[in-house]
Amino acid sequence: MELLKLNSFVVPGEEAKMKACELYMNGGKYNFLFNPAFGTSILIDGENTRQLLDQNPGDELQFKLVQRGFMEVPGCNACVSDEGIMPNFFIIDLTQACNFRCAYCFRHLNQQSTTISDSNLDAIVQYISDHCIKNNLTEVNVQPWGGEPLLAWKKILRMHDMFLGKGLKPIFVIESNAGLITKEIATEAFKRDIRIGVSIDGPPELHNSQRKLATGKPSFEKMYEGMRNLREAGFGQRHGVITVLTRNGYPYVEEILEYFAVELGIDRLRLNVVKDSPMMKDKNLCLTEEEIADFNKRLVMKLIDLNKRGFAITEINVMDKLNNLLTRKRVNICNSRGCMGGKKMIAFDQEGRIFPCDITDYKEEAVGSVFDEEDLVELLGKAHNLKSFFKPKEDPECSDCTWAFFCKGGCTNAILYKKGEISGIDRQECITNKTLYPALIDMIMHEPEILKIMTKNQIEIV
Ligand code: SF4
Ligand code: SF4
Repeated sequence: MELLKLNSFVVPGEEAKMKACELYMNGGKYNFLFNPAFGTSILIDGENTRQLLDQNPGDELQFKLVQRGFMEVPGCNACVSDEGIMPNFFIIDLTQACNFRCAYCFRHLNQQSTTISDSNLDAIVQYISDHCIKNNLTEVNVQPWGGEPLLAWKKILRMHDMFLGKGLKPIFVIESNAGLITKEIATEAFKRDIRIGVSIDGPPELHNSQRKLATGKPSFEKMYEGMRNLREAGFGQRHGVITVLTRNGYPYVEEILEYFAVELGIDRLRLNVVKDSPMMKDKNLCLTEEEIADFNKRLVMKLIDLNKRGFAITEINVMDKLNNLLTRKRVNICNSRGCMGGKKMIAFDQEGRIFPCDITDYKEEAVGSVFDEEDLVELLGKAHNLKSFFKPKEDPECSDCTWAFFCKGGCTNAILYKKGEISGIDRQECITNKTLYPALIDMIMHEPEILKIMTKNQIEIV
């Protein structure tokens, strides 16, 4: 794939000004024009490419360029991109207890584990409900979080009922090891439309090598039974899947995806590279930067291969980034436009403290408490001026980086857990962006027909 960096220019005889942008070409019918300043794109054919390279775009092309913020016309409103503070995704730490002992877990599971009290939980639900009602947010997105959140299943139902009682529509999303999903829990979750994602790290041998029960025994069978209960309760194959890729799984990326698509009939999964943290006992599980880059390229190639063979599988990070490139839709509330912690999402610990993300192990990062009865938006507004969590991330590479509009230095949480302090950028996300975005642009130009399945019908190029 060839990349041309185009300089800004003024259209001859007019006042319209084209901004600097990037043109990706791979010899196909369409080329991909990307506007790094505003995160917009256009697929242009050979004739439009020629007009652009001649710095003389025709009226039709100019219209599209203005529409997508590539071009500014005096007197017309310039495109703006603003992310205001209005949380509508709430992570609640229900329990630190877990029935598994995964090799890469960052919770201190050998210390005494605690579960939230009913009175603190009620205060958190009241606080969230007040915020939602005051700001006309009828849907309230909640992630009960742990440890293993299903160990606090009764508290999850208590919260769900409370939100319903306040006239709100609770949308609950749970990530679970599935070891506790009985038929009863699965049926109740289905009845209430509580979405449960199951953590599976690949075929049984690989899964068992890094996800063990608290007793030390392998966990695959227990997980499989829980997943089957979910499927039989009505979720079918539509439950989520979360996979953590470590050094153990890195050589087998293709086999993992093949197993999910062919053996388990899964149509979407989130495949996260393991995050480093001081709590991780075995540092050899972390991938090197070269391995992260290689993984992302292999991920895209394998997804294309599976889709061409009729397995309609996609990966959520890929889907989010395709949406960034093609629609600018903020699909991922947490990081479609840099970190949205403390803007669109917040977290609560078991004592009712409020955090900008699930960094509840770092008590000094709390921005307030539900018991202070302070307005949430005002409280976060103040915290933005005071807390290091909200400072723009800085690195010399970021200033002229193509992906800065989407990335903005990556995940603050990942930096904090890796370094024990918030400084610099999230290298893992940096490497991912620098390899995944170009690989996806290549795919958009080479295999446009695959986009419909890769984005679960959100994008279709006609
Ligand atoms: S800290 Fe990371 S996980 Fe949390 S909101 Fe920001 S990007 Fe998302
Ligand atoms: S962290 Fe990396 S990918 Fe992100 S904006 Fe900075 S240089 Fe670009």
